[in-house]
Amino acid sequence: MLPAAQFAMAAADIHHRTPEFRALYERVLGQLKTFVGTNNDVLLLASSGTGAMEAAVSNLTSPGDRVLVLSAGKFGERWEALAKAFGCQVDLVSRPYGETFGLDEVKRALRLDTRAVFVQATESSTGVRHDVEGIAQLLKSAGSSALLIVDAITGLGTTRLDVDGWGVDVIIGGSQKAVMIPPGLAYLSLSDRAWKAAEISKNPRYYFDLRKERKNAQKGESSYTPAVALIAALGAALDYIAAQGGGDLAAGRDALVDNAETCAAMTRAAVRALGLELFGPGSYSAAATAVLPPAGVDSGVIVKELKSRFAAIVTNGQGEMKGKIFRIAHIGLFDYMDTIAIVGALEQVAATKLNLPGFAFGKALAAAQQVFAERSARPTAITAREPELVKA
Ligand SMILES: *Cc1c(COP(=O)(O)O)cnc(C)c1O
Repeated sequence: MLPAAQFAMAAADIHHRTPEFRALYERVLGQLKTFVGTNNDVLLLASSGTGAMEAAVSNLTSPGDRVLVLSAGKFGERWEALAKAFGCQVDLVSRPYGETFGLDEVKRALRLDTRAVFVQATESSTGVRHDVEGIAQLLKSAGSSALLIVDAITGLGTTRLDVDGWGVDVIIGGSQKAVMIPPGLAYLSLSDRAWKAAEISKNPRYYFDLRKERKNAQKGESSYTPAVALIAALGAALDYIAAQGGGDLAAGRDALVDNAETCAAMTRAAVRALGLELFGPGSYSAAATAVLPPAGVDSGVIVKELKSRFAAIVTNGQGEMKGKIFRIAHIGLFDYMDTIAIVGALEQVAATKLNLPGFAFGKALAAAQQVFAERSARPTAITAREPELVKA
């Protein structure tokens, strides 16, 4: 967690129906608009990311609505389950874990009465990036009136997204991902078209009534008791991101995306140099890199070795991918130093546990170094961490 956010949390001892809180809330909601990159209002909810996913379904659809879910992993399956839970008639474009969809198959699945299309910007369970821009363009060129609803919980801050320019109607983020604070907050923005759908939805709503939330947010308040300390932390985190862009939050967000892309590219090069294979045929996200262990090795062995010998956290595959892949995160606070460290530790694990043909120390590190040198020679890249940024 970001140290500045930790201090802000500890100091956030204010009552929520006060001018102090209203000032904080309005400031953070404004910052979120810039971070997301939209002119639409952004709402904050006291829930994990899934709460905002559920709010999108319950507020913008009605039972019996035909919707299209694009699914290629655990979080795509969550959209499907949510839409079904609220009585939608779900059409599904489904690809195996590790893959993404072709725009032609999305086009074929789109119908005249499709009310909404649900997708992930990045599918965290597989490390794959989906083509949100392409899907948005497709909806436009097909003359579809379907809302485009994007789970960008790991996409925001790792992926370039032009929310308003592309015509994304709903975009969803979560506090524990790129904004580097603890879990417990979800945020989302809705387009005018989406607000119209919220007005006509026949679903019952109470805690996640976005219309009510918007009305209150306009007065600097939340409908129910807000997660005050997390909101203070979020403000501090967005200040920190702005500082990465010389005080410009949009530039800071772009620097954050750039950093994640650099770490991801370093990791992919390192993994290949080691003789391991990346999971999936391409379209790699910068949120996390999913790697296949050598044949016959359970990925849990690698996860355990990294944790027990180096206190390095990489994650196993989820659900059906457990034991079959391991995932190295690049989102948020990870940077060059972390990436070099994890690649070095991975070489140690490979040396003792993986029996890879042609293994030699330094090959993976050299590949990562090379990528960093090339990318940081580009004028837009950020090349160094802030000196005061110390790991918590
Ligand atoms: C983390 C994540 C979520 C939300 O999960 P919660 O546990 O509810 O915060 C949803 N979608 C994606 C792609 C995620 O990475």
